[in-house]
Amino acid sequence: MRIGFVGLGAMGVGMSHNLHKHGLLGAVWNRTAARAEELAAELGVAAAADPAQVARECDVIVTCVSRDADVLEVIRAMAPGLAAGKVVMDCSTIAVDTAREAADLVAQAGAGFLDAPVSGGKEGADNGQLVFMVGGDKALFDKLKPAFDAMGKAASHMGPVGAGQATKAVNQIMVAGINQAVTEALAFGQASGLDMDDVIQVVSGGAAGNWFLEKRGPTMVKNVFDPGFKMALHHKDLSICKQMAADKGVALPVVEMTLKHYERLMEQGHGDEDISTLFRSKQELFEKGNLKSL
Ligand code: NAP
Repeated sequence: MRIGFVGLGAMGVGMSHNLHKHGLLGAVWNRTAARAEELAAELGVAAAADPAQVARECDVIVTCVSRDADVLEVIRAMAPGLAAGKVVMDCSTIAVDTAREAADLVAQAGAGFLDAPVSGGKEGADNGQLVFMVGGDKALFDKLKPAFDAMGKAASHMGPVGAGQATKAVNQIMVAGINQAVTEALAFGQASGLDMDDVIQVVSGGAAGNWFLEKRGPTMVKNVFDPGFKMALHHKDLSICKQMAADKGVALPVVEMTLKHYERLMEQGHGDEDISTLFRSKQELFEKGNLKSL
C-alpha cells in the first residue's frame, strides 16, 4: 500500500513520519511547498507538484488540512488523479455534511472515501498514538488497517460517512469543558500562591487527572502557549458543534461560553496559540475580579 499525505501542519508532519517508518509513505504535498520539499528531502520520498499527482502516484491519500472549505478545495484539486480502487481518508475535523460532500466528490472520481478525524493532539500524531473515529464503508476501513496501525493506537468504525465527524464533535465538546475546567482551576491555584508544578503532579494522580492537565498544565502556568492545537481551529470545531446542537433545538452552555471566550481572545490576537491560552482569561479574572459582573 502506497500512501500520499496532503497537509503537513502540526498533525500532518508527525503522521507522515509514522507512515514512513512503516514503509507506507509514497508522496507528500503541502500548500506551502517549502514544507513538503523539506519533509520529502528528509524522508527520501517524492514532493508532489499538486494534489492530483499525489492521487495519481498513491493508492491511499490522507488529507489533514484546516477547515471545511480547505478539505473540499484539496479534494477538487486531487480529483483528476483519482480512480477506482483508490481511497481518500480525511483526518481533518469538519462538519458531517462537508464529509458527505467530500465523499460525493471522491465517488464521482470513482474512488472511495473515509472520514477519519483524530484525537490525541500533536503528541499523538508525533508518537503514532492517535485515536481514529471513522465513518464510511466497513470494507474500506478494514483495508486501511495498516495505515491506522502506523499512525495510531486505536481506530474505530462508527458507521457510514459522517459518523466519524459526528463522534469527533462529541470529543470536541468534551475538550472545551476540560479546557474550561483545567485553566480555571490552575489559575485559581496560582492565585492561591501554590507551587503549580507540585499541584499538577498531585492532581494528575487523582480523580481529576487528565491528558490536557498533564500535557498543557506545566506550560500554561509558565505562560507558554505554543500549539499544540490552535485555538482558532477549536473555535471552528465548536462552531460546527453549535450548529449540530441548534439543529436539535438546543444551545449547549459549555459550547456557547467557550466560543465567546475564544472570540475575545482571538480579537486580542491569540487565535494561533494553543487552546490552553484560555488560561490568560482565567488569570485576568484573578487580576481584575468579576464578582460584580457575575
Ligand atoms: P495546522 O498546523 O494549522 O496545519 C494546517 C495544514 O492545512 C497546513 O499544512 C496548511 O498548509 C494546510 N491547509 C490549510 N488550508 C489549506 C488549503 N486551502 N489548501 C491546502 N492546504 C491547506 O493545523 P493542524 O493542527 O495540523 O490541524 C489540521 C486538522 O486536524 C484540522 O482540521 C484540525 O482541527 C485537526 N486536528 C488538530 C489537532 C491538533 O491537536 N493540532 C488534533 C486533532 C485534529 P500551509 O502549510 O500552506 O498553511
